[in-house]
Amino acid sequence: MVGRSVVARRYEEPRRRLVEYLREQGIDDLAVLHAFDAVPRHLFVPASLRHQAYQDVALPIGFGQTISRPTTHAFYLQCLRLSSRERVLEVGTGSGFQTALLSCLAAHVHSVERIPALARRARDLLEELRIRNVTVQVGDGALGWKTHAPYDAILVSARAGTVPEPLLDQLGPGGKLLIPLGPDPHDQQLFLVRRDYWGRVILSALRDSRFVPLV
Ligand code: SAH
Repeated sequence: MVGRSVVARRYEEPRRRLVEYLREQGIDDLAVLHAFDAVPRHLFVPASLRHQAYQDVALPIGFGQTISRPTTHAFYLQCLRLSSRERVLEVGTGSGFQTALLSCLAAHVHSVERIPALARRARDLLEELRIRNVTVQVGDGALGWKTHAPYDAILVSARAGTVPEPLLDQLGPGGKLLIPLGPDPHDQQLFLVRRDYWGRVILSALRDSRFVPLV
């Protein structure tokens, strides 16, 4: 859940228009649309780019990383059809924007970020917004976060060559894992991996994607 400070309430009109745009683009999961209405994206981008925060564009967040465009996040989250009871693992906290969206859609979000400065900044901002059902840790997300496994959903926000084995191991029965896979930046697709109740793993390609690499 997101606490509504005075700063967070700014940009309400552009945010409302973005939600409308997402709806027009085929996002029909009301929980996802509500999350976009609740999370102040302008606080997750550099101050000099705030005027673009509610446009459908990816933006740099420092350290060579980017915050994905809103339609990408919305599509990504809609695929999971979360019901607010799930325990989620996010690999690649980045700005923390998707972490904040997930906090509105799941019971708890465990997020792992490789770059300490990004993790620190995201943690501070999430705390400032009084988002309490998230935990951010610095580390290699390809190893998952075993302490809190198994997860109902795992989201990987960076492109990999193959699905890291530890993530598959930490995906619970009935769980869903989203990951961009591909050999290079221009040849990658978003994949959905499902673990059924017999423990079998089913992989399906969803669509082309553009993510920074998992390091
Ligand atoms: N969804 C994020 C954007 C993430 S960009 C947002 O809303 O802002 C991808 C992030 O994955 C970057 O911050 C990058 O540092 C991180 N990353 C890349 N490889 C990683 C790894 N092995 N473990 C954890 N984080 C990783």
